[in-house]
Amino acid sequence: MNHLKQLIDKLEESSNLAKEEWIDLMRGRNEETAQYLFERARYWQRKYFQNKIYTRGLIEFTNYCKNDCYYCGIRRSNGRADRYRLTKDQILECCHSGYELGFRTFVLQGGEDGWFTQEKILEIIQAIKKDYSDCALTLSLGERSRQSYEELFYAGADRYLLRHETADEEHYRDLHPPELSAEHRKQCLWDLKEIGYQTGTGFMVGSPGQKLEHLVEDMLFIRRLEPQMVGIGPFVPHHDTPFAQEAQGTVELTLFMIGLLRVMMPDLLIPATTALGTIDPMGREKGILAGANVVMPNLSPTSVRKKYELYDNKICTGDEAAECRNCLKQRMKSIGYELAVDRGDYCRRIKEENHV
Ligand code: SAH
Repeated sequence: MNHLKQLIDKLEESSNLAKEEWIDLMRGRNEETAQYLFERARYWQRKYFQNKIYTRGLIEFTNYCKNDCYYCGIRRSNGRADRYRLTKDQILECCHSGYELGFRTFVLQGGEDGWFTQEKILEIIQAIKKDYSDCALTLSLGERSRQSYEELFYAGADRYLLRHETADEEHYRDLHPPELSAEHRKQCLWDLKEIGYQTGTGFMVGSPGQKLEHLVEDMLFIRRLEPQMVGIGPFVPHHDTPFAQEAQGTVELTLFMIGLLRVMMPDLLIPATTALGTIDPMGREKGILAGANVVMPNLSPTSVRKKYELYDNKICTGDEAAECRNCLKQRMKSIGYELAVDRGDYCRRIKEENHV
């Protein structure tokens, strides 16, 4: 058996590799290694989740943002972004149609928008949890104080998504203005975990300036943090950002990273992301076959879909929620998987001895 397959086996057995081994594996990867990795990834995916794919209904409730991340289409400095906010009633309406369609998790995502004060967010959380007590609520509102995270948690939020974007301090500075730091973002993640949220982190693949060494740091950080979810997707340029002319990430490397995540932490919740579906018409199917087990279709009203444009050519911006769910249902069926009507909570699994 060749060296790279041995490294994959080692990762599977010990959930860890030394830095140099990570580099060897990523640098040496080829089609054959990838196929082997995806087989191992699917072994664990099937063992723990069978052919069930969890769904989360994504509600993009504001595209106002005080931050100026160089890669993001809704950054503060993009004067051409057509800004919007959903009202509480509109958000509840999204949940209503989502519930009817079978969603049992709602994700409230937005830019860092001060118009939604802590009080307003608390009110929205309470309203959703009151009407949909059998559903999980995920927040993705960016960096906030520990106290704020605590209050949102005690108001009923179950999960929080905050990608670390890149674990390397210097690379982080290449992607963000000086007022943002990797250190603060990571501290938020430690806080979220400690408070008791099911916590999701993640990173972009192929963001400008990214080296394999950075991806190794991402894997080591994830190993330390032990999040319940990890979302990764290719970087895709947006025409009205400083990164308009940069190359996009590749499907190939994104899939390889999904496979590595599944083998490293087999019980992880890993979405096949919209960004992956954007750069490849079969991207989400390929993501599932590389080890992902979650999809996050859009529940936002069609009227605002196009405005939450983080990157160019984002898919599904013209479809109704029902169309999105049905489309994904068919897509999953075509590769032998089914959408689950389930909250899809994280469940810790202990690996048995001698599993192979
Ligand atoms: N304001 C929230 C939500 C951010 S949007 C927060 O700070 O967490 C969700 C994710 O979209 C980001 O974490 C980032 O990883 C991703 N994203 C933003 N711009 C992107 C781009 N140009 N290409 C690919 N992914 C992008």
